[in-house]
Amino acid sequence: MKVVLENLTKEFPARGKKAAGNVVAVDHVSFEIPDGSLTGLLGPSGCGKSTTLFMLCGLLAPTGGKIFFGEDDVTDLPAENRGVGIVFQNYALYPHLTVRQNILFPLENLKGKDKLSKAEMNRKAEEAAALVQIESLMDRKPSELSGGQQQRVAIARAMVKMPRVLLLDEPLSNLDARLRLQTREEIRRIQRETGITTVFVTHDQEEAMSISDQIVVMKEGVVQQIGRPQDVYDDPVNLFVAKFLGTPPINVFDGRVRGGILYIGEDAVLNVNKVPDGNVTVGIRPEGFVLADDGPLHLTLSRVEVLGRDISVVSTSPHSRNESVRSIISAEAKVDTSKPTVAFKLKPAKVFLFHKETEARIRYGE
Ligand code: ADP
Ligand code: MG
Repeated sequence: MKVVLENLTKEFPARGKKAAGNVVAVDHVSFEIPDGSLTGLLGPSGCGKSTTLFMLCGLLAPTGGKIFFGEDDVTDLPAENRGVGIVFQNYALYPHLTVRQNILFPLENLKGKDKLSKAEMNRKAEEAAALVQIESLMDRKPSELSGGQQQRVAIARAMVKMPRVLLLDEPLSNLDARLRLQTREEIRRIQRETGITTVFVTHDQEEAMSISDQIVVMKEGVVQQIGRPQDVYDDPVNLFVAKFLGTPPINVFDGRVRGGILYIGEDAVLNVNKVPDGNVTVGIRPEGFVLADDGPLHLTLSRVEVLGRDISVVSTSPHSRNESVRSIISAEAKVDTSKPTVAFKLKPAKVFLFHKETEARIRYGE
């Protein structure tokens, strides 16, 4: 089921007498979720992800814009008629019910022609449990389960009606690191197996990048960029997106363009044809540095960290906006740590220029 958001907007009334104006939590958001895809809705806390999700499932009414499921305008359709399954951050299982009863719950509320026999309900519950591999836990209470198991039950409960759209709101944030990794693979597997159109909300860029077909990056209620994770990483539209994606994060410098050449301090680091003279913000991905004795960029060497396959050269620069500059290079490279400075060449595809004020991307030819 393809889902389309069209100028979707949600304003909340300001709280308290002193507060000025309404809170625009979601601001004219438009994008398409392709049928059968997994879309990662990504952005920092408070950027409007949950509000967007709650409008998609019908728990919140938009103050503007429309939502389409396929060709149908579902903007005013009640949540229970939308055919969505939703999983919240804090599992929200019924504590007094067993796993089986929790999974059965959405089926027991079906009315009229949708009503199922006991046998059918049990079969569906067992299918959903098998999908998330919790068949052996059916008679336990939620308090007898680990966090990861509880989250699987919540997913089974959301899947039991075979929803047209599956919505997941930060489903992994209460799990420990290892389980988070495992469960996100699990969610990807379930999504692939069932082909259910899925929206996965997270503030964790790595999580979204690793399992999404497309990511939608939001900031302050506004969509910044939409695309395949790799494409957005390789070609960010602005400084915010460039900084939000990638670990270690992109290195940001104050730079200056003179006569088609980019300078960082006194170092002429790159040809940037067609960029007008002036001050710019420069973003360099950690993997964009190449150790080279005759390289144009000189940084003050702090230390070298061994990461196994790679090493991280940590350095400083008076022109860096970050306390330290991190470059990731192959462990075979030898860094002369007896010297106070380290010299780099730059990979042009890994160097982004941004407008100093608007922070929009400035494209350049080599
Ligand atoms: P996210 O899920 O990305 O962390 P939310 O969608 O929960 O963000 O919130 C977006 C913005 O809307 C925040 O500024 C939040 O404080 C505000 N907000 C969310 N729900 C309400 C509400 N019921 N009343 C007023 N403001 C709200
Ligand atoms: Mg949220």
